[in-house]
Amino acid sequence: MRFIHERRLTTTTPRPILHKGLGSTPSARRVIMNELSSSAIESPAFVELRDVSLSYAADADSILALDNLSLTVGKGQFIAVVGPSGCGKSTLMKVVTGLVLPSRGIVKVGGEAVTGPVKNVGMAFQNATLLPWRTIRDNVLLPFEIIRPHRHKLRAERAYYVGLVQRLLNTVGLAGFSEKYSWQLSGGMQQRANLCRAIVHQPSLLMLDEPFASLDAFTREELWFVMQELWMDRKFTAILVTHDLREAVLLADRVIVFSPRPGRIIYETDVVLPRPRTLQTTYSPLFTDLVHDLREKIRPGRPS
Ligand code: ADP
Repeated sequence: MRFIHERRLTTTTPRPILHKGLGSTPSARRVIMNELSSSAIESPAFVELRDVSLSYAADADSILALDNLSLTVGKGQFIAVVGPSGCGKSTLMKVVTGLVLPSRGIVKVGGEAVTGPVKNVGMAFQNATLLPWRTIRDNVLLPFEIIRPHRHKLRAERAYYVGLVQRLLNTVGLAGFSEKYSWQLSGGMQQRANLCRAIVHQPSLLMLDEPFASLDAFTREELWFVMQELWMDRKFTAILVTHDLREAVLLADRVIVFSPRPGRIIYETDVVLPRPRTLQTTYSPLFTDLVHDLREKIRPGRPS
């Protein structure tokens, strides 16, 4: 049965503080969470999908990847999309960024209809894809070489841009590694640099397609907090695709669950945990309730 919360939240508004142990049962905690989330103020829409369907043409047949999808992401909001493999999560990313156009429906980013690749978007994928012949600093500098107006200013103002890169590398714990090459860094350090490259040009929208999936569990958790710090500092709108429900709840303001293909939203929930969230947050009853709740929605009827 379809069940969708209709609330739209943003963390750009101050969050009420939840206390550990608040609500002694899952249902009591759910009531408290709903009350707290209704007190938040709505933010203006930044990403809007209206009745979007997308079919991939394949010889005689076509594959319906997204089916009549409507979704609004508020400016500065961080949402996570979860669902089984092949349900259309990556297709959603492509549709939002204009890399593919929907067969039906309307996509808007920043109030503008998407008719081609969207500008001012940052992207990070599972594979860090750093260029091995460039230093870490020069990898992170890359968007300034490509994106207007920076590419026209880079030569004259190189010291300024290098300073921006270095400060960002310092923030993510790579202060002493800017002159190294990617192959001299661990997987976690490469992914830190990758995140820097994705946001160094101050994109208004950050698309994250399982960026932490290939990391070991401890490194992944470290990177969650790096990501959270970057987002809290810069407040870009973010869409994260992940298979990791803990990651979704830890990072997002709102988690959306997709059905098996064709992708439809079958459930969504607000995450009203206060920020900054910490490792301790992941042990709290509210956090585990949310994770269990999502787990049930992804595989209804199956034992966990
Ligand atoms: P997810 O990211 O959730 O794993 P995808 O968005 O990659 O799912 O794919 C959704 C469905 O569309 C899958 O069944 C996949 O095989 C199919 N698909 C994805 N890309 C293409 C393509 N370029 N051509 C044909 N089918 C595709």
